[in-house]
Amino acid sequence: MSQSTVSLPLCTSCNRPVKPGERATKFLCPNCHDSLIWRSEKCRKFSRHYKCVNCGFEGP
Ligand SMILES: [Zn+2]
Ligand SMILES: [Zn+2]
Repeated sequence: MSQSTVSLPLCTSCNRPVKPGERATKFLCPNCHDSLIWRSEKCRKFSRHYKCVNCGFEGP
């Protein structure tokens, strides 16, 4: 049995896997431009803060 598990990206705010089809957003950290920030649909909705794992930048 072959398994092709696609590793889901984790939401930077809540650390939950972002499911395909979810209206999540991803963008590069505005500070270091080096780390990809993922935000789930819920975190966008509630404007949760995120923290860049690379440089520690926090944003709304
Ligand atoms: Zn989230
Ligand atoms: Zn950063």
